[in-house]
Amino acid sequence: MTDIFQLGQPPKHDPGIALSSRSQLDLFLGARGIVIIAPHPDDEILGCGALMAAVADQGQPVWVIYLTDGGASQPNLSADARVNLVHRRQSEAIAGLSELGIPNSAAIFIGAPDGSLKSSATYTKLATYKLQELIRQGCVSSVFVTCQDDDHPDHKAAYRLAVSALRDYPGVQLFAYPVSSRIDEGSPRDPSMAFPIPFNTEGFLQQKRAALACHISQLSAPYGSIGFTLSPSMIENMCEGPEYFVQVEEAFHDQSHPF
Ligand SMILES: [Zn+2]
Repeated sequence: MTDIFQLGQPPKHDPGIALSSRSQLDLFLGARGIVIIAPHPDDEILGCGALMAAVADQGQPVWVIYLTDGGASQPNLSADARVNLVHRRQSEAIAGLSELGIPNSAAIFIGAPDGSLKSSATYTKLATYKLQELIRQGCVSSVFVTCQDDDHPDHKAAYRLAVSALRDYPGVQLFAYPVSSRIDEGSPRDPSMAFPIPFNTEGFLQQKRAALACHISQLSAPYGSIGFTLSPSMIENMCEGPEYFVQVEEAFHDQSHPF
């Protein structure tokens, strides 16, 4: 593992280091399955879509814990329109998983209001319980969560949630993945990602693009032009070249971290 960390940051759209897909999966997988923690529906595809497809292709389980309802991607909606958007984003998430070969039973929707995860103790506890329940059942080797320097407050809160939840489970690996700290430039700009592990996405990018295409509410402006949309350049930045991960050891060494 050490030699991979010493490779340094690859250039934009580097096709990935010359490791076989199997040896890369060995690094991430272990003997059991993986859990992806997605602050919003689509984060899992943007950051980990090819990895998820590769793991599913190996016949090992993938779960996704969706922390928030994604209802704030279009601001100033009526209450009814917001409910409609939340339902729509859940359907898009399940359709995206299907494109990756992952059953809809793998989706766990926590339902925290979009943008408020940091102050939602109830939802944080629920997500922690769901994650630890999978771990206690012996199902999980590795957990993936958005990196700490992603700009969105829900992404930062997700990182802290994962670090805290895994503190008593040192046998489970934790990896961070960049989304908003990569989406504008292609390569991670997060300082904590200075030495990322690039996952060679070759053979799985078509599935990743198909999964992302299911998130129609994020690719267009279904409720007007004021909401967030993924631009073509953002999609290219996240759907070309490798996916990047960094192994987090903070959970098991920094017992004084304030949560
Ligand atoms: Zn997000």
